Amino acid sequence: MEKVILIKYGELSTKKGNRNFFIKTLCSEVERKLALENCTITHDFSRMCITFDEDQLSDILKKLNTIFGIHAYHIAYKVSSDLETIKEKVLEVMKQESFHTFKIETSRRDKNFPIPSMELSRLLGSIILKAIPNVQVDVHHPDVLCQVEIHEKDTYIYTNAYPGLGGYPVGTQPKALLMLSGGIDSPVAGYLAMKRGIKIEAVYFEAIPHTSLEARNKVIELSRRLAQYTNKINLHIVPFTELQEAIYQHGDPAYCITIMRRMMYRIMERLCQKYHAEAIVNGESIGQVASQTLVSMHVINEVTNYPVIRPLACFDKLEIMDIARKIDTYDISILPYEDCCTIFVPKHPVIHPELAVAKEIEATFDYETMIDTIMKNIQTIVIREEDSQVEKDLL
Ligand code: ATP
Ligand code: MG
Repeated sequence: MEKVILIKYGELSTKKGNRNFFIKTLCSEVERKLALENCTITHDFSRMCITFDEDQLSDILKKLNTIFGIHAYHIAYKVSSDLETIKEKVLEVMKQESFHTFKIETSRRDKNFPIPSMELSRLLGSIILKAIPNVQVDVHHPDVLCQVEIHEKDTYIYTNAYPGLGGYPVGTQPKALLMLSGGIDSPVAGYLAMKRGIKIEAVYFEAIPHTSLEARNKVIELSRRLAQYTNKINLHIVPFTELQEAIYQHGDPAYCITIMRRMMYRIMERLCQKYHAEAIVNGESIGQVASQTLVSMHVINEVTNYPVIRPLACFDKLEIMDIARKIDTYDISILPYEDCCTIFVPKHPVIHPELAVAKEIEATFDYETMIDTIMKNIQTIVIREEDSQVEKDLL
């Protein structure tokens, strides 16, 4: 019996008109990820099937666990869709299992198969009951659930199920720019945005010499870890020092963060235009700090018409930390090197800023010219998942 990995698309199957595009995007991502493995990958409208060498299985599964758009997968036996073979092979599969109770669940993808699903399940069940001693059927909580999927040519038999990452394949939505600091939140926000199929490029606001090269390396390593879920990530490094210093020289310190974030959004908008991105993504979470109260968000958001996607808006910090651990960014995020936001935080930032006051302060210096200069000096690094030098230097 040939063993294969059977992939279920999950949420993709709810996409009617675009279904083909979604499945093709998923397929090319699986092909890219598994290019070095000795596999063949085939797919139809409802399933993808991967043949593999047994000694590569754990490698392959690790890679599948970084691909959005996979709802679940099974290690399945592939046999031909004729009744006698199915009867024989289901028994063979079940003989490998140790169980007391079981259930057979049949689904006929090919409605021309002569026996209806329920009837076939009963038939296969009776064969097991006869052939294997001391077992019984339990349709509610079986020790082993054996699923039999009958397609036109092939039938898949499996007794296991592994969850995939879910979501949509990256690239099924257009590009957005992720504001990536070295903190815990923004990589998680990037991950969740990618999970919706959004392709991301990252933007890091840097304030050397107030921030260190280690802080930059943290962001590079975080980008690399996020690149595991896509192909590569372009990281744009924004030289923010002069503008940030200017903000702190003008006006009320309580408003510095409000103004700084308005400037960040202005630069993000320019970057969206330059790189043809449709939205800004960041790690803001309602109420987390003074600049993330609803009033602050409103005043800060006022400078851009681009959608600002905040995947973490309604998450608790503990929930965010859980995801960060799961996606392997937490250990990097907690390294101590500070970024430009943390260094310049005033003692008492305004919690309910007024738009008129922010505008008044901004009118006292020529930030537009400074932004023009910044735009000319942005540095871009292309980061791939396989570049691991920075990680070695950091940890
Ligand atoms: P994080 O939120 O990622 O843990 P943080 O707490 O330092 O980092 P906040 O002050 O909460 O950041 O800022 C909110 C969001 O603004 C961040 O999640 C991130 O998306 C963005 N941001 C903050 N600082 C920077 C920066 N230096 N470069 C790029 N984006 C930034
Ligand atoms: Mg934060």
